[in-house]
Amino acid sequence: MQNVPGRAAAIDADGVQVFIQSARTWKPTAHKPEDLAVLRAARESGQVQYIVCHAIYFINLATDEPALLEKSRTALRNTIDVANAIAADGIVLHVGSHKGRGLEVTLPQIVKELKAALKHLNDPCWLLLENSAGAGGTIGRDPIELASIINAVDHPRLGMCIDTCHAYVSGVDVTDPKQLDALVEELDTRIGIDRLRCLHVNDAAAACGSNRDRHANIGEGEMGDGLAVTLSHPKLADLPMLLETPGHEGNGPDAQEIAALRALHAKGVKRRQAKAKKPRAR
Ligand SMILES: [Zn+2]
Repeated sequence: MQNVPGRAAAIDADGVQVFIQSARTWKPTAHKPEDLAVLRAARESGQVQYIVCHAIYFINLATDEPALLEKSRTALRNTIDVANAIAADGIVLHVGSHKGRGLEVTLPQIVKELKAALKHLNDPCWLLLENSAGAGGTIGRDPIELASIINAVDHPRLGMCIDTCHAYVSGVDVTDPKQLDALVEELDTRIGIDRLRCLHVNDAAAACGSNRDRHANIGEGEMGDGLAVTLSHPKLADLPMLLETPGHEGNGPDAQEIAALRALHAKGVKRRQAKAKKPRAR
């Protein structure tokens, strides 16, 4: 994700997301315990409906550099501590890059690191691996890679977060109902769709299959209104949806973006309902 800093997001009772934590620095967050307690209380009372933290982007659980691995471990542990403190529902994590060595070679290390991290993560919080845009050796470019990690770790709270922009630039045109159905089907067969806990909903400023991780505002990128196909898929439509778009001021998603997302979601759902009602041609 290049355009905006990824941050922890909470969704209030009105379904609106609030950002909490920056994800583009190694420096650990230093939230005051009283602030964490306020958010925890809001989550537990239902005032905030869903909280997802985003682990920092520099983490690489597949690295062969011991110093980087140690830093990655510490950073992930810090996010886990914050997530536990605020009763978060999930932590989204980019696994990292194998830098051309291949997933198979790095898999045992990734599995070991994830198992160790999950030991610290309180129930009911999930650790969610995000699909990558597929550039270079970034891990999680398709359901096969995500499945090989998730199935090898075999933990009840290890799941995934699918980013619409990443899926698109990695070569799956999720604005095409057939391609989207095939992706959902594959995720379900290989991993189990119940492990998909949230979506990152972003339009793409780069072409399908380009492997270029460029997020665009809702309706303003290559996907345009076609994003409604994903937003309204029966197995996806009720998932928490988090924006990671540049926004109109360049400060990340704003009220306009949330309104555009809601409108597109409603449009997609309506379109599917109308289609379902239509009698089939004989
Ligand atoms: Zn994302």
